[in-house]
Amino acid sequence: MKKSAICPGSFDPITKGHMDIIKRSSKMFDKLYVAVLTNSAKKSSFTIEERMEMIRNCTKDIPNIEVCTFDGLLAEYAKKIGVIAIVKGLRAVTDFEYEFQMALTNKKINRELETIFLTTNSKYMYLSSSIVKEIARNGGDISDFVPAEVLADIEKRIKNRKD
Ligand code: ADP
Repeated sequence: MKKSAICPGSFDPITKGHMDIIKRSSKMFDKLYVAVLTNSAKKSSFTIEERMEMIRNCTKDIPNIEVCTFDGLLAEYAKKIGVIAIVKGLRAVTDFEYEFQMALTNKKINRELETIFLTTNSKYMYLSSSIVKEIARNGGDISDFVPAEVLADIEKRIKNRKD
């Protein structure tokens, strides 16, 4: 039986930390859905379409990835598309409490669904989309933090938004 998983997030914008988790999980499953969340409490800087386009750009060489978006509950969407697991990256202890609560809640809603945590790559453990945006807004160099495929795009969009 083919096994698929979902890697959900805001990806606002995608970083090298996200890419590390996406690449590693794509090797563990036959198919990986990378899902851009629409109902996040966080105020986003990029539109859903922009975020999806950037992820597609960065993952075009990985054949078993599908970029998608959804409204509503992750556990319900997971059931609808037939994935067996949610894959999340853990950066630090600070990520743990929230992620643990989410994993238990999702298990309650969908008993068949497992949540798998991948430990961050130590190179990226400090990295988040918010940090990338903060550096870019202030004219700093973000080339170490975001995939090369979307570097110019992110810099341009953040610069335009500032003007
Ligand atoms: P954030 O806005 O906090 O950067 P997202 O909501 O876009 O994160 O994150 C999607 C998933 O990617 C989450 O599981 C998050 O823990 C994971 N993630 C984000 N950045 C990293 C990183 N640098 N290393 C490992 N996992 C990460």
